[in-house]
Amino acid sequence: MDEKKLEEEVELLKLDVERLKKKKDEIPPHRHCLNCGIAIPPDKTFCSKKCENEWNAMLRKKKINMYVWMIFLVVLLVILFFAMGGH
Ligand SMILES: [Zn+2]
Repeated sequence: MDEKKLEEEVELLKLDVERLKKKKDEIPPHRHCLNCGIAIPPDKTFCSKKCENEWNAMLRKKKINMYVWMIFLVVLLVILFFAMGGH
């Protein structure tokens, strides 16, 4: 293999590396679907209507869970209050 060709090859490889570096910088701004995490355009919150519905259903469940806990705590406090007040 003669040196000239080797040099050319190295130059080509350098160009390739430069191109790859540029490509890495050129990733467009994006965000991730709140529900499944795949990349989506920055002006969206979910990748699909289905994900949005799933997310909202999950939020509703969380809210209900929180209310259940709050009611549980209030009931517990009332029970404690009466238990202590009775003696
Ligand atoms: Zn999604």
